[in-house]
Amino acid sequence: MGTLVRITIFTASAEEAKDAFRAGFDRIRDLDRILSDYQPDSELNRITRTAPGGAVAVSADLFTVLSAAQALADATGGAFDITQGPVVRLWREARKAARLPDRGALAEAAGRSGFRKLRLDPARRTVAFDTAGMALDAGAIGKGYAASEALEVLSARGIRSALVAVSGDLAFSGAPPGQRGWRIRIHALDPGVARVPPVLELTDAAVSTSGSSEQHLDTGGRRYSHIIDPASGMGLVDDLTVTVIARHGLDADGLDTAVSVLGRDRGLALIESRSAAALIIERTPGGETVQVSSRFAQLAARALSPSH
Ligand code: ADP
Ligand code: MG
Repeated sequence: MGTLVRITIFTASAEEAKDAFRAGFDRIRDLDRILSDYQPDSELNRITRTAPGGAVAVSADLFTVLSAAQALADATGGAFDITQGPVVRLWREARKAARLPDRGALAEAAGRSGFRKLRLDPARRTVAFDTAGMALDAGAIGKGYAASEALEVLSARGIRSALVAVSGDLAFSGAPPGQRGWRIRIHALDPGVARVPPVLELTDAAVSTSGSSEQHLDTGGRRYSHIIDPASGMGLVDDLTVTVIARHGLDADGLDTAVSVLGRDRGLALIESRSAAALIIERTPGGETVQVSSRFAQLAARALSPSH
């Protein structure tokens, strides 16, 4: 998945830790072979070479990820869309070349994208593509899934306190010894924002953050995010940083991207409809605004309460 993975665990013995690391990283490696966009032979890349219309059987992991992606696409009217691979690739090349993608090429790529062109059959666990030249991109959801799945392997081995970080997508179980939870640092905020504590102590959750701060294209006085709006084929230009907390990384990672595309108000409505929490920071030339979902407000209030 083109990134670094870090696993932290607390065990009674070094031996136990070593075995657990191996098991956790084995799970990550297996998922990388399935979901990576950087490996031409990943299952994700292989299945798109199927002839249009033909159904192809896929692994349970891939089916889980694709089902979650399609459900989120449905819920967001296609703002979240795992079939935007052709468009996402043009933007990746554009970042390298430091200039906007060609309009004609974008229109052509958009013709090979769209979640309604991807069909899943849960009974047979197969996938079919309506159009030739489609490409799936799990970049918005795969890392969170991998983090929670590796954590699951550790939990199944009886390890009660572990954290898996796939780049910035975190999944963790019980608190480290002597702690109330894993200390999750929140993005630096203006000091005036008193409602949000700098650190949250959390257990048994997944946290994902999405924003344009790391990968973007600067041109013509604008900053284009690596997240694209499928409605226009363009990189997002609003400067939004979205942090989502959910039980599983599949949800946290999917939702951070979905909220980014939907924008603050529709994004918050989506979060409120799920058992998830979100912090949305929007930067404009006029300053910074911070919006939190009701579950995030509860977590923040607990962290800020004097009795805590
Ligand atoms: P990060 O990879 O920085 O953690 P995200 O979780 O938001 O951030 O994923 C961004 C990636 O998702 C992009 O690099 C691209 O591969 C993919 N992507 C871009 N736009 C969309 C979209 N509208 N829907 C689904 N995936 C997208
Ligand atoms: Mg995401």
